[in-house]
Amino acid sequence: MTLDPFPNLLSRAAGELEKQFSDLPAFESKADPAAMERVLEDVARRMGDNFPFFHPLYAGQMLKPPHPVARAAYALAMTINPNNHARDGGRASSELEIEAVQGIAGIFGWTEFLGHLTSSGTMANLESLWVAGQLAPGKRIVGSEQAHYTHQRISAVLKLEYASIAADHRGRMSLDALEVELRKGDVGTVVVTLGSTALGAVDPLDGILALRKRYGFRVHVDAAYGGYFRLIPENLDKPAQRAFEAISQADSIVIDPHKHGLQPYGCGCVLFHDPSVGRFYKHDSPYTYFTSKQLHLGEISLECSRAGASAVALWATQQLLPLVPGGEFARGLARSRAAALELDRRLRQDKAGRFQPLPAGAPELDIVVWKVNAETTERASDLAQQIFSACAARDLHLALVQLPSAWFEPAIKFEPQGSAANGARLVTCLRSVLMKPEHEAWLDRIWERLAEGCAEVMGGNRS
Ligand SMILES: *Cc1c(COP(=O)(O)O)cnc(C)c1O
Repeated sequence: MTLDPFPNLLSRAAGELEKQFSDLPAFESKADPAAMERVLEDVARRMGDNFPFFHPLYAGQMLKPPHPVARAAYALAMTINPNNHARDGGRASSELEIEAVQGIAGIFGWTEFLGHLTSSGTMANLESLWVAGQLAPGKRIVGSEQAHYTHQRISAVLKLEYASIAADHRGRMSLDALEVELRKGDVGTVVVTLGSTALGAVDPLDGILALRKRYGFRVHVDAAYGGYFRLIPENLDKPAQRAFEAISQADSIVIDPHKHGLQPYGCGCVLFHDPSVGRFYKHDSPYTYFTSKQLHLGEISLECSRAGASAVALWATQQLLPLVPGGEFARGLARSRAAALELDRRLRQDKAGRFQPLPAGAPELDIVVWKVNAETTERASDLAQQIFSACAARDLHLALVQLPSAWFEPAIKFEPQGSAANGARLVTCLRSVLMKPEHEAWLDRIWERLAEGCAEVMGGNRS
């Protein structure tokens, strides 16, 4: 069994929960079990039309299966279905949210902060930039051209001007290009991505903080993908290590437990270093804030209803796998990182020289990206597509990404002004997100299928 390895976990815990309501008069559910079973069979059939995200041979997009304890805790909480907007709707789960978010802030060394869960990284970034706009109305937001695409959209929603900063050949924000924008004097906030979505690239946060001393601006760290890597700095190269070690000096941080934190979707998190930004959220909710004088999480959140079950699942996962350096959770991340380094090593050492990974220093986290060598950019893109399909036919699921072809031509000097967005030529590359701890143990089998897929498309040796 791989899909549901511990089916009894939930029913035992549900029995325990039920006991606590045993004083209530019994009532029967009217739902018809036979009819529900038929519908669920249909659901199972329909859900088969998916890539096998749960399996180690799925090594494509950012998809990591939730931990079994997260799934069980989520389902258990659903029997109550608490709403973490207010204590009236989710007393216990609000407490668990506060504790779970303290655990996450602890990764960054923050004990005093304001933070809560959100339904996604996008919502968490929206809150961060909304607060940034409240603090510096009319000032611009800037982020690297490899920053998540939603920052530009969020800025438009908030009616804040947004500008893209050129990235270097490994997808990291260029400090020179950033300084050009800073000199204009109207930058309110710099969005710093630690772990970009396409490449896992790590912006030079330490260098950006040095610029903050000179120019004065707010630093928002988008670590939706990469935040948990703060637990294993010793497994990263020096530049990424320095960036992650500087993260506690950020003004706000976003991290997605539903990316690397083993949670079901619907779990993002935003943290503000200065708790007093809570003043911007001030509002009255005429119908929800009556049962408690303590803070309701809805009083510090842009969203109203939020799934209490998300908080319960996160809390349970962090009880089992505490977010501490050297712990089992951190060791799982280290295994993902090791898998990426090993795949990258094999690609660079390919005897037939068929591949061109990103410049040395990549991968910075656990995402591997490589171009296929060919006479022309078009041919390289076409081969990547074909290898992608040949691997999928062998149950190995990879991903594709388009990058500026100049990144792969070392002769072309990096030009901070020459942004990829300005019509630069793109090449389709293969991409593999090795975010499951199991990927390390499966790397030989992943490589075997990749070698077979490449041999089918390009001919030649299987290794
Ligand atoms: C995934 C991601 C986001 C968006 O988060 P969602 O949870 O998908 O809304 C933002 N920034 C980065 C760097 C991401 O990887």
